[in-house]
Amino acid sequence: MNTNDSADAVEPTVTDILFECPQCGKSLEIDARGAGYLIVCPDCHNEIQVPAWNAEHGSEAPSEDERHRVEIEEMLGQLQAKIARLEHQQRLDDQCIKRIGDELVLIQAALDRITEVVETRNPAS
Ligand SMILES: [Zn+2]
Repeated sequence: MNTNDSADAVEPTVTDILFECPQCGKSLEIDARGAGYLIVCPDCHNEIQVPAWNAEHGSEAPSEDERHRVEIEEMLGQLQAKIARLEHQQRLDDQCIKRIGDELVLIQAALDRITEVVETRNPAS
């Protein structure tokens, strides 16, 4: 019996991502560390996003990312609730509230990026 039928895909160059520019279709090759980054296509000069290195690694543990994202979202929600409560109690002066608001904007931006990363790693599910 041949139960060990693992399709052992030949890994090309582990350190490179091969993909096509969605704008002009040019074949591009970029270091794996560039995954998710925005680059300018050398051919059509459009800004394009380097896809995640998904073949083997994208499906590996997306749930962990998702879990982290949910965790962060929960923390953010708790923070916002706390701040709202404190604002009501007027225990924070304006400057303090403003500073916390600035930090929240940063957290929100980070969250957006995390969401983007997670969605890039799980295209159509
Ligand atoms: Zn292009």
